[in-house]
Amino acid sequence: MICAQLSAINGLDVAFPNSTLYAATESAYWSIQEASLAPLCIAKPRSSNDVASIIKTIANQDCPFAIKSQGHAPAAGFANIDEGITIDLMGLDAVTTNEDASIAHVGSGASWLDVYAHLDPVNKTVAGGRNGGVGVGGLTLGGGISYFSPQVGFTCDSVTNFEIVLANGELVETNASSQSDLFRALKGGLNNFGVVTRIDFHTLPIDEILGGRVVNDISHRNEVFDAFRNIADAYPYDVHASITTSAIFNAATKAWTLLSAPIYTKPQTNPKVYAELFAVPSISNTVKITQLHTLANESAIAQTNQIFSTGTYGVSTQLLDRIFDICNDTLHDFNVPGSLQWITTFEPLPTVFVSRGAHNNVLGTSPDHGNVMILLFSASWSDLDSSSSVHAKLEEVLRKINTVAKEMGQLREFVYANYAGIYQKPISSYGVQNDAYLRHVAKKYDPHGVFQSQVPGGFKLFD
Ligand SMILES: Cc1cc2nc3c(=O)[nH]c(=O)nc-3n(C[C@H](O)[C@H](O)[C@H](O)COP(=O)(O)OP(=O)(O)OC[C@H]3O[C@@H](n4cnc5c(N)ncnc54)[C@H](O)[C@@H]3O)c2cc1C
Repeated sequence: MICAQLSAINGLDVAFPNSTLYAATESAYWSIQEASLAPLCIAKPRSSNDVASIIKTIANQDCPFAIKSQGHAPAAGFANIDEGITIDLMGLDAVTTNEDASIAHVGSGASWLDVYAHLDPVNKTVAGGRNGGVGVGGLTLGGGISYFSPQVGFTCDSVTNFEIVLANGELVETNASSQSDLFRALKGGLNNFGVVTRIDFHTLPIDEILGGRVVNDISHRNEVFDAFRNIADAYPYDVHASITTSAIFNAATKAWTLLSAPIYTKPQTNPKVYAELFAVPSISNTVKITQLHTLANESAIAQTNQIFSTGTYGVSTQLLDRIFDICNDTLHDFNVPGSLQWITTFEPLPTVFVSRGAHNNVLGTSPDHGNVMILLFSASWSDLDSSSSVHAKLEEVLRKINTVAKEMGQLREFVYANYAGIYQKPISSYGVQNDAYLRHVAKKYDPHGVFQSQVPGGFKLFD
């Protein structure tokens, strides 16, 4: 019934099951769990006005809906829905700039690769996602960690303006001088306030950068963890350095591998900050001078089942070792039919990074907490029927990690929403004041709670 009303909107594409248009959206999700959900129909707006017409049609009706940008949130239901309507924003992918390219105007359904491919030729960039396939909408509304974050903060800290469709269908621009309370709430407030249609960002200059991957044998774990710690906990932190270090476990072969992605946001071949890491004997090292859009253009992987979870901790080699041991002990003898891979990825969240947007976003991170590190603990597996046992194992590991980290005085409150598992509570980790602020702003701009009750996907404010 509502799908028929949507189909009547002039110029709006509405896709129904068994059509090519419908399949195109379903195949664009990153995880099988999201792609397995079957909306009644998928609305595919091509303009902000289309989105306004959609919301006017479906808000306050008895029909749940989901909002999708590039569909990279792994959890089922975050950006897709059974027995409801999915709004697929991928048609809102325009990237333009103002005259001197100091501001980029980006459709919220664009991918970060769209942004970098457009801006690299004019030697500008936005502090956005590292993998080019990730969506501008989801990453920015959850905060956003970028190679440039030590220079300019979370991705949301570079936003100058959000264009958003509110629950009443009104299309508004929100920025520091217009509805500034909503502007701030959107910097970490996820999909709780409306459908964001365009995001304007401060750009920053970019030349070529240094980037690639270093693979080390697990026997060099201590040296790699030491190098990571010394990068992550340096005072002063080198603001051009951005690194992730992962320990990857293949459940079939029982083999661990170490994979680091050291990036330097200047064309410098051997920055001092990576000397210790580069001195560790490696199996392969692809680090070289390159362009951001080349680095971000990672080949797409086939859809698999995926789960994320996260924690934030003080930077400590001892804790890195303990986390590795917990994972190894708990996961070593666990397996499921088909393939199964576990990834523990560590990345620095130095004080210089969080100081950029403190008080301007709602994430609650503060330089007062010192240099910390974020863990993204994830699994990918092929057998859908094994999902509940993989989920349970993942929760067990994270529980053990948090218990040990707490005993060591290294557990921090922040739960990064973009990496959080469905069972975690990122919004309450922003702190009591930010949590209350978000609820207050939501009540003001969405008094009937459309984005709380009719949009069940994602982390809600009144859970
Ligand atoms: C391969 C990969 C690499 C990643 N790399 C990074 C990284 O470098 N840095 C980082 O911080 N995170 C990273 N992430 C995490 C990523 O930020 C989150 O998964 C994010 O939610 C994905 O955004 P999306 O728009 O693609 O996802 P979607 O699944 O489309 O959306 C995610 C959530 O945001 C909401 N949403 C999306 N767009 C809008 C909108 N316009 N208006 C209102 N709500 C909206 C959706 O409803 C949904 O709840 C990565 C994830 C993956 C899978």
